[in-house]
Formats: sequence, C-alpha cells, structure tokens
Amino acid sequence: MERDFVRISDVKVSGNQGLEVKLRGWVYRTRGSNRMLFIVLRDSSDIIQCVGSRDDLGDEVFETARALNIESSISVMGTLNEDKRAPGGYELHLKAVEPVSPAERFPITKDQSEEFLRDNRHLWLRSRKMNAILKIRSTVTGAIHEFFRMRGYYEFTPPILTPNAAEGGSTLFEVKYYDRKIYMTQTWQLYAEAAIFSLERIYDVSPTFRAEKSKTSRHLSEFWMAEMEAAWMSYRQAIEVAIEEVRFIIAKVLEKNRNELEILEADTSRLEPLLSKEWPVITYTEALRILKEKMGMDVTWGKDLRTIEEEALMENFDTPVTVLQYPKEAMAFYKPVDPEADAPGPVAKCFDMIAPEGYGEIIGGSERDTDVSAISEALEREGEKVENYDWYLDLRRYGSVQHSGYGLGVERLIAWICRLDNIKDAIPFPRTLTRVTP
Ligand code: ATP
Ligand code: MG
Repeated sequence: MERDFVRISDVKVSGNQGLEVKLRGWVYRTRGSNRMLFIVLRDSSDIIQCVGSRDDLGDEVFETARALNIESSISVMGTLNEDKRAPGGYELHLKAVEPVSPAERFPITKDQSEEFLRDNRHLWLRSRKMNAILKIRSTVTGAIHEFFRMRGYYEFTPPILTPNAAEGGSTLFEVKYYDRKIYMTQTWQLYAEAAIFSLERIYDVSPTFRAEKSKTSRHLSEFWMAEMEAAWMSYRQAIEVAIEEVRFIIAKVLEKNRNELEILEADTSRLEPLLSKEWPVITYTEALRILKEKMGMDVTWGKDLRTIEEEALMENFDTPVTVLQYPKEAMAFYKPVDPEADAPGPVAKCFDMIAPEGYGEIIGGSERDTDVSAISEALEREGEKVENYDWYLDLRRYGSVQHSGYGLGVERLIAWICRLDNIKDAIPFPRTLTRVTP
C-alpha cells in the first residue's frame, strides 16, 4: 500500500490526464458548498487542488472531508484532470478522502505578524515560504560540500567547545564545563590551522556561536559558517576560491530551485547575470575613494567600514564586491601586514566579500600570520594571555607554511539569494539576543 502513494510534484507533469493516483499530505486550504468541496493538498514537494462532489464521494465521506480543519493529515485517491487555470496545470477529481489525523483549529491564519510566526515556528515551518527557504538551504549546503570535495578538499570537523577566543572576547558564549568556564566556538579557524599541516586543504559547514549584543537584521547568535583553510595559499588565491564558491552555489540554486525562488518572489533575473559578470575586487583604500567621490561620504582612513558605509558602497555595484587590505590596526591578531600594499598606513592580508542589495558582508577571510613574535604582541595588545595560545604558536614552530582561509555566513548568503527581509528566516529555529524559543 505505502508504495502506491506518489508525490504531488511527480504527478504534475504533462501526459497525466485521466491517470488515477493516490496522494497523501496535509490540508492546505479548503472551501466548498453543500455539493462541492475544494481541498488544496500539500506535501513536501508541492500543492494541488482536489475537487470532490457529494455525489462522487457519498454523504458520509463528503461530510467528514468538509469538516476537516487545515493541517489535517489525509490521504486521497482520484483522477488527474488537466486544467490550465489550476496552479501547476492539474486538478485531482476525488474518488476517496481518508483522514489520517484530523487537526485541531490551526493557530496560524492570514496576516499575522512576523513575531507571531516566529513564536509558532514549529508550525510555520510548514508554510510554503519556509518550505521553499529550507529547500534552498539544503541546496546551498549541499553545493558547498560538492564544491570543495570536487577540488580535493577534505571535510574537517572542529570542536564546538573551546577554551580560547578567536574573534574577540565580547561575543563569547560562556559554558559551565564541569567546574570551569569555557566557550562555544566563534570560528573553527585556530583548529583548522592545526589541521592543514596534516590535510593541507580542508572545509567545513559548522554551527557557530556569537553573543551579538545589538539587534540587527543580519546577526544571529547561533549560525552556520562554511569555512575553508588551505596550506600554500595566499589571501589573493583564497579570494579567487571564494568568488568561485559563491558563484557555484548560485548556479546550483538556479539549477534546482527555480520554483522556490518564484514562491519567495526572489526574482531570478537578479541572480542569472551574476554567473557571467566579473565580480570586482577593490582595496579598502579604493572603497574609501568611491565613498567620497560617488557618495559624498568622508571616512577617516583606518576606521572599519560600518553597515551604512558598506551599504553606500554597494549602491555602486550589482554583484558581490570583495574589499581587501583593511587597516591592520582594527584587525584580529592572526592577520599579517601586507608589506607590498599601496596604502596610507599598514594594512592586513585580509578581505571581506560584500553582497549587493544591502545584504552586507557574506565572507571574511585572510592570510594567517606565521611570525610568532608578531602574533604574541598582537595577542598582548588585545589583552589575551599568550600562554593560552601556546599550541597555536607551535604551528609556527614546526614547519610553518603560508596559509589562508575564510568563513562564509551560510544564513547571510541564503538571506541574499532568497531576498529575505530578516536573517532569522534563513535558519529553521533562530536564536538571537531576544529569541531562544521554540
Ligand atoms: P560582521 O561585521 O557582520 O559582524 P564579522 O566580521 O564579525 O561580521 P567574520 O568573523 O568575518 O564576521 O565571520 C565570517 C562570516 O560569518 C561573515 O562574513 C558573515 O557572513 C558571517 N557572520 C558573522 N557573524 C554572524 C552572525 N552573528 N550571524 C550570522 N552570520 C554571521
Ligand atoms: Mg561580527
């Protein structure tokens, strides 16, 4: 019996006129009269309108079906009828309807606030919107694995509980670990740097935790970062990999998720040209010049770019832009100075990739310093105990090589691709400053 059921998306293909099929799923919408009944049925793949008459179904089945609340689980049997007006081109003429588990009155109705929908995320996951986003999310993470594996990278899994900070103490989540305090990982980086001396080229897609104390539409407290780290690689080469990776992911989404992008009204014509256009790579110093000349914004050289400056910069571009060589001063301890850069002050061998349409930074990366004393001094300046990083410095003591890596914010990328208003919808169960439920 089980095998007889088919997926809705599989029946909505040409040539199925008159075919008898069994479907199962959930009631998405109903309406009807005393004689006719319309049930829109959904399963994971799609929705289809089912039409039944009292005459065909008989009084008892008709009344039972008519009484079903939305989100009741049901199985149905009927014949497919090609109908140009029906969404997807087919309707199902019902011969049988069988409730599996009738639903109570579903709390989610039309026009509810974003916050209400997030309070009911466990139920809202069933919406066409979340269903579409989650499918695209699956394509995105699948594409990341495919991209790196095709290029000979190994998947490397970092620890989640860590004794050290890598991105600065202010966003660390503390965890009680037996009788001491440790932290949730902010990045895999320090461990990735250890692993490249064994595997040379590695990547991961891992949960990442940052206690972001301000409310923004692009920061989560728990998010997924897709990182890579490679031995014998300069930061400029890492930029090339990053651009190729993001292009590859977009190509995969366009290949597999056109329906979902349409459901999300995410207009594929924004994404298609990205596959053939050149994606600019500019220096921080050039970015300041663009801000001044084109946007009339004066940013003092040495200051990090704030969100409004990134947004103003991106008004000049319709592809992602990689900005490299930020001032060393503002950078984390592991980013080395680029002595060859042409800039008014010392800059680091680092880069950010910024998405268009106001979605902000999607990638941060750099070369990693290999000079023990430079790292020790930078750690001291940041108020860290150098002895806590002794194992990290060991990596420079035993056969050090030039190496680079970057981290891609999976939800930031999804939010941009899907054109979401808020990053919270790019992850199934968001965690932020103000939300930990459901
Ligand atoms: P931002 O300045 O936007 O806070 P960052 O410089 O702290 O970003 P990195 O440490 O470079 O970010 O992390 C790499 C990537 O991880 C970022 O480019 C971004 O895409 C993503 N990311 C960082 N913090 C968050 C967060 N709190 N929620 C979601 N994604 C994040
Ligand atoms: Mg940050």
